[in-house]
Amino acid sequence: MSNSALTQVSIPAHQGNYTRGRSEKITKITLHHVAGVVTAERLGKIFQSVGRNGSSHYGIGNDGKIAQFVDEANTAWADGNWDSNCRSVTIETSNSATGGDWKVSDAALRSLIKLCADIAKRNGLGKLVAGKNLTWHSMYAATACPGPYLKSKVDYIAAEANKINYPEKEEIKVEVNGFNITRLTDYLVIYCGGKSTGTNQWGVEVAFDANCVAISDPVCWVGNMNIPDGGFVLSGHDKAGNWIAENIKKGMKLDLSVTVK
Ligand SMILES: [Zn+2]
Repeated sequence: MSNSALTQVSIPAHQGNYTRGRSEKITKITLHHVAGVVTAERLGKIFQSVGRNGSSHYGIGNDGKIAQFVDEANTAWADGNWDSNCRSVTIETSNSATGGDWKVSDAALRSLIKLCADIAKRNGLGKLVAGKNLTWHSMYAATACPGPYLKSKVDYIAAEANKINYPEKEEIKVEVNGFNITRLTDYLVIYCGGKSTGTNQWGVEVAFDANCVAISDPVCWVGNMNIPDGGFVLSGHDKAGNWIAENIKKGMKLDLSVTVK
């Protein structure tokens, strides 16, 4: 079990405000709001006070600063529910105004999204789903926490955090001069089925797998690239080669609806 490298300040909670160790595996994140406008440092001070009988693993100040109060390996007292505390990594987020919707600043929300993505990744939580592994305080205790604003953002937080951990492959459409033809001046050609492209060095080539995902970054001015089994090579001469070099990157997906010029 580790802690987040996103933490900008560490303010260990008083040892009387949490339980050392964990009796259960971490299966979720629980969101809280502070019900006040605070800095990360101010929040840390609260959990350092003797007899507080409360804590969270992380806290985010109104300016977006991320603080650690309790190691993830320990059980913070945040959810008002022992079973939930045992299974959760808990985050307190400052509000940007008191009352009403209990709004949270955009800076704090951005930090919260990044922190949720990081916690999910390190603890193998998989994709975050609101109400399943991305939870909130009022799911476990009779409380208004995390307030209307933050609660309305849980789906958004999950979606944005998932984008960080599971980036969508960018799809790119191409118009080619043909398949397995001689690569003439400025031609963009797809080579498939054979062993290698047989091209000269005056171009740029990039290999794709059977799912049309670029296996590597483009290779410039080498030529005769090996064609992967089941995949293909996109090969461009001169201007078309420059286009490949500028637009294709490893991991990108080529739109299969290629059109022939
Ligand atoms: Zn709470």
